[in-house]
Amino acid sequence: MPDTRPVQDSRISAADRSDNFSDLHPPLDRHEALVEADRCYFCFDAPCMTACPTSIDIPLFIREIQAENPVGAARTIFEQNIFGGMCARVCPTETLCEEVCVREVAEGKPVKIGLLQRYATDTYMARATTHPFARAASTGKKIAVVGAGPAGLSCAHRLATLGHDITVYDARPKPGGLNEYGIAAYKTVDNFAQREVDFILKIGGIELVQGQVLGRDVQIDKLVDDFDAVFLGIGLPDTNDLGLEGEDAAGCIDAVDYIARLRQAGDLGALDVGRNIVVIGGGMTAIDIAVQTRLLGAENVTIVYRRGKENMNASVYEQELAQTNGVVIRHWTRPVGLTRGDDGAINGIGIEKTGLADGRLVGTGETMTLPADQVFKAIGQKFDPAPLGALGIALEAGRIRADATRRTSHDKVWAGGDCVAGGEDLTVASVEDGKIAAMSIHAALMG
Ligand SMILES: Cc1cc2nc3c(=O)[nH]c(=O)nc-3n(C[C@H](O)[C@H](O)[C@H](O)COP(=O)(O)OP(=O)(O)OC[C@H]3O[C@@H](n4cnc5c(N)ncnc54)[C@H](O)[C@@H]3O)c2cc1C
Ligand code: SF4
Repeated sequence: MPDTRPVQDSRISAADRSDNFSDLHPPLDRHEALVEADRCYFCFDAPCMTACPTSIDIPLFIREIQAENPVGAARTIFEQNIFGGMCARVCPTETLCEEVCVREVAEGKPVKIGLLQRYATDTYMARATTHPFARAASTGKKIAVVGAGPAGLSCAHRLATLGHDITVYDARPKPGGLNEYGIAAYKTVDNFAQREVDFILKIGGIELVQGQVLGRDVQIDKLVDDFDAVFLGIGLPDTNDLGLEGEDAAGCIDAVDYIARLRQAGDLGALDVGRNIVVIGGGMTAIDIAVQTRLLGAENVTIVYRRGKENMNASVYEQELAQTNGVVIRHWTRPVGLTRGDDGAINGIGIEKTGLADGRLVGTGETMTLPADQVFKAIGQKFDPAPLGALGIALEAGRIRADATRRTSHDKVWAGGDCVAGGEDLTVASVEDGKIAAMSIHAALMG
């Protein structure tokens, strides 16, 4: 007899789940990498390099791959971006380096820069027994980093390379930030996030202290007193609400929380998955939760987004990824109400068509109800200023204000990544922030 329960675990077989959550972009083998490297024109003033937020010398590392020196290519990458392995997996290259590659512009077929970067960095991590860099002589300076995500660990690594001693405090049980708890499972398989953290820590001089919450277990004024400088890379811990009645009912779920559970699940079959799922949002998180619940076996997954395709934060490539996985995207619709069954749990969502009037988004009054056993909220995350205490660190647009060197309004505190105003909310941008802050801290401490 068919199982008609709306929300259940193990909707599909373990074998299908394992297939569904295998590598989204399988790595290139040696021959494929050499063929792909041959496609590069090694442009002078390469546009791909300018488009990379961490300014990796892309033509140089591709030339090194072509010369059968993938380890040298990896060093070239790591010099600019110590998270080169993760960025090769998660960067939206279609809107960064590959979008401007001259072969994309001329032929609509860019050099596969992301996959070549992965080939080089994976080869390095598989072969090399040592870290690519050596630490400078000790400076005797101590720096506290709060947050072991891409921003915090990039900052810590660069500072450690320069000879400083770093203590990293993080609230979660494992380091890596959203690399470990947020990125879609099929982008980073085989525990890569933890393997990469282990690789980064091999530089030495970095002490990781997990399970320490700033504002609860450690206080910022104490860190400022005890250390020569402090870097904050604490991300965005809160999710925006829909503002609808019934939002706290069973079945209305924070997408980021669910993805964190999915990433930590020993058995994906133990996760509750609805038959009919509605996702509210238009960014990477919305696409990721929609695709992953489909891959877990949900029958109907619909993304509800209030504006058009071109307004979505998710790239066209990501939208197509969702659609090829059977996700329906309803543009120009917004949620207007949640409906609940006798058990109090969500069983549907009212949506309204939207349009523009004098350039403003308005409801058209045309409504309908979609069946939904689970409604996922993916309408953006927000910063929590509480951990900053009474130090008087200035905010801007609800996040920390930092200058071009990532120094905050407090002269001993720097910040970077998602928690800072004006950023791009991408892994690679957070890595760059950490690097810039580290160089600024070094300059400030060493004169
Ligand atoms: C679901 C999802 C999918 C994404 N997918 C992609 C993608 O495919 N590609 C891409 O480029 N970007 C993606 N992003 C964005 C990317 O993950 C972030 O931009 C990036 O991780 C930000 O790095 P960060 O170091 O600033 O913050 P985080 O990665 O959030 O790390 C912050 C760290 O600070 C710690 N922390 C927070 N508060 C405290 C406190 N009070 N005390 C101590 N520690 C604290 C946290 O535990 C965490 O370890 C995604 C984001 C989400 C939510
Ligand atoms: S733009 Fe394309 S072809 Fe030119 S150097 Fe970059 S990857 Fe090579």
